[in-house]
Amino acid sequence: MVTIALVQRMKPILLSPPHMGSEELRFVHEAFTTNWIAPVGPNVDAFEAEFCQTVGSAHAVAVSSGTAALHLALRLIGVAPEDEVFCSTLTFVATANPITYMVAKPVFIDSDRTSWNMDPELLSTALKQRDRSGKLPKAVILVHLYGQSADIDPILEICDRYDIPLIEDAAEALGATYKGRTPGTFGRMGIYSFNGNKIITTSGGGMLVSAEPTLMEKARFLATQARDPAPHYQHSEVGYNYRLSNVLAGIGRGQLQVLSERVAARRHNFETYYQALGTLPGLKFMPEAAFGKATRWLTCLTVDPEQFGCDREQIRLALADHHIESRPVWKPLHLQPVFAEAECMGGAVAEHLFQRGLCLPSGSSLTDEDLQRVIQVIQDVYHQKGRS
Ligand SMILES: *Cc1c(COP(=O)(O)O)cnc(C)c1O
Repeated sequence: MVTIALVQRMKPILLSPPHMGSEELRFVHEAFTTNWIAPVGPNVDAFEAEFCQTVGSAHAVAVSSGTAALHLALRLIGVAPEDEVFCSTLTFVATANPITYMVAKPVFIDSDRTSWNMDPELLSTALKQRDRSGKLPKAVILVHLYGQSADIDPILEICDRYDIPLIEDAAEALGATYKGRTPGTFGRMGIYSFNGNKIITTSGGGMLVSAEPTLMEKARFLATQARDPAPHYQHSEVGYNYRLSNVLAGIGRGQLQVLSERVAARRHNFETYYQALGTLPGLKFMPEAAFGKATRWLTCLTVDPEQFGCDREQIRLALADHHIESRPVWKPLHLQPVFAEAECMGGAVAEHLFQRGLCLPSGSSLTDEDLQRVIQVIQDVYHQKGRS
């Protein structure tokens, strides 16, 4: 006989699954009853307007993914073949792929230890060096990792000094703050993602934001196949099919209404893990920088194998044995085979975080029993110094 307790123990716990609220279906239903099953429509307009309100941006364009938003941003800036684009190294590959779409060259910048995000000093040194050799990058892409803002002010100041546009990749940081404002709204443009694993989701989708209306008008134009104003189909530029579906925008509208609850739930996950595991020797949780509030999109920690008695992989595999999904911290992009040719400024901090870092299940729908299951496995691993 299979007991309820056993079923509970077998229930898979995922890293960051979607978590619907109560209104999403109503907006989707509206799209159906009005037959707005298209990449334009009232849900898209409303989602953009409501998103602007939420993050405090003047303009927003809803697109099919965060990656598409980044691609548009680079295109709008006019990145050309062989141009350099500086980019955080500790991030998901989607941050840098659009640089390659533009046939430009990524140059990766290491993280600092307090925010795990781009090190402003390193960026400053790198730009000074490029300035001396007379070839500055065309743009800087700054990532706000795992729900925590980078230290934006000094980075913006350095970029302004050399007149280089800053693009913020805030895919993982919706709901976070930097000195009271939303990361993603400081640079020339910012992007967000509504992929299935993000803090809110449309199953797939993204948003491009900016304070500049002409830029965002051009973004809309490029994202809808660059159609010239003519009754027939006429095109003078190459465009993309990047707009978000009106059906999916309906999901986004419902999700936006529960964003602050989702942030609270993820911060609760972090607190619970931290209270239970924070005193185990060798475990260090990702710090929260003093300049803002992190969403704890994912709870991340590092494992010192000497002090803890076993390494990150042993913990990850023990969790997997118990049907619990966890993941190593992002493999830095300068270590990725696809970017083997790319230059990297520094890199040791990101490499260290990758070697030792683990992301724990962090979904906003986790129950306290779920959290206890995760905690129990890690405590058992510690006491047994390995897998049971
Ligand atoms: C998810 C993610 C993206 C890409 O967003 P998609 O909507 O999946 O294209 C970009 N950058 C970072 C840091 C991400 O985590």
